[in-house]
Amino acid sequence: TQQFVWPLAQFGQIINMYQRAHASSARIFGLMDEPARLAEQPDAPDLAVSEGRVEYDDVTFGYGDGETIVEDISFEVDGGETLALVGPTGAGKSTILKLLMRMYDPDEGHVNIDGQDVRDVTISSLRESIAYVSQETFLFYGTVRDNITYGTFDADDEAVVAAAKAAEAHEFISNLPEGYDTKVGERGVKLSGGQRQRVSIARAILKDPDILVLDEATSDVDTETEMLIQRSLDELTADRTTFSIAHRLSTIKDAEQIVVLEDGRIVERGAHDDLLSEDGLYAHLWGVQAGEIDQLPDEFVERAAR
Ligand code: ADP
Repeated sequence: TQQFVWPLAQFGQIINMYQRAHASSARIFGLMDEPARLAEQPDAPDLAVSEGRVEYDDVTFGYGDGETIVEDISFEVDGGETLALVGPTGAGKSTILKLLMRMYDPDEGHVNIDGQDVRDVTISSLRESIAYVSQETFLFYGTVRDNITYGTFDADDEAVVAAAKAAEAHEFISNLPEGYDTKVGERGVKLSGGQRQRVSIARAILKDPDILVLDEATSDVDTETEMLIQRSLDELTADRTTFSIAHRLSTIKDAEQIVVLEDGRIVERGAHDDLLSEDGLYAHLWGVQAGEIDQLPDEFVERAAR
C-alpha cells in the first residue's frame, strides 16, 4: 500500500507547495488580502523591458464597490527616472502602483511598460521585472538568507552577503543568534520595521529589477539608521525606473517628477522647485514638514477630508 499512497501524497505536497509559493509572492507584494483573480492570455508573451519607460494613460479604477478611487491618471516616466507620489492618506498612491504590478486592472485606460500593456504580458514576467520595497514587506518563516534570495534562484552566499552589506543589513544579521541562518518571520526571530526594510532592500538589490516600487518607511528608526537606509536606497534607485511613495518629502525632493494626488486625482505635478513656486498643496505640505508653517491651512485640510 505504501507504493500506492505515495504518488498521491506527493501530489498533495506539490499542490501545497504551489499554494504556499503563490501566497508568499502575494505577501511579498504586501497584498495578502487581495484575491489573485486576474487572467492572462493563454499565449501571452513575457514582458521585454528595454528602457524601463512606464506610461499611465487615462487610468480610472475602483475596487468594484461602485466607488471610483483613482481617476484620469496620466503620466510618463522615462527609463531610469524617479517618480514620487505624494498626497494625504487615502489619496490613491498605493492603488496606482497596484495597477502597475497588476494586482488589479484599470476600469479604463492603460498601464504600459516600454509600450507593452501590462495586461498583455505574463504576470510572472511582469513581477520578475519589478521589486517592491517596504517596511511592511512580509518575511516568510525561513532563514534570513532565504528571505533575501526569494525570487533570485541562482544566488550564491557571496552575492547574498554583498547585497546585505549594500543594504546596510549585514551588521545586524551577523549579530543574530545564527547569522544568515537565523529563522525569521512567523514563529522566528522578530525583526524591527527598520530591519525588515533593510532585508527587503537587500532582496531588491539581489534581484536587480528593471523597475523599483518603493513604499517609504513610516515607522521610526533612529537617525543614523535612517541615513544608512537612505544611502542604500539612493544606490538602488540610481539609473533605475523608480516609483516612490513618500511620507517624508525630504527623501523625494530630488525626484525627476513629483505627482501630487488628492482624492484620487492628480492636482499638481513637477519637480520640487516648480511645485514650491506653485504655492499649492505640495508647497504647504513641504512648509509643514520643514517646520516653516505650523499646520496645513484650512483650505487644504478641508479638501483632503472630502
Ligand atoms: P494611499 O496609498 O494614498 O494612502 P490607497 O491607494 O491605499 O491610498 O487607498 C485609496 C482608497 O482606496 C482609500 O479610500 C482606501 O480605503 C481604498 N482602498 C484601498 N484598498 C482597498 C481595497 N482592497 N478594497 C477597497 N478599497 C480599498
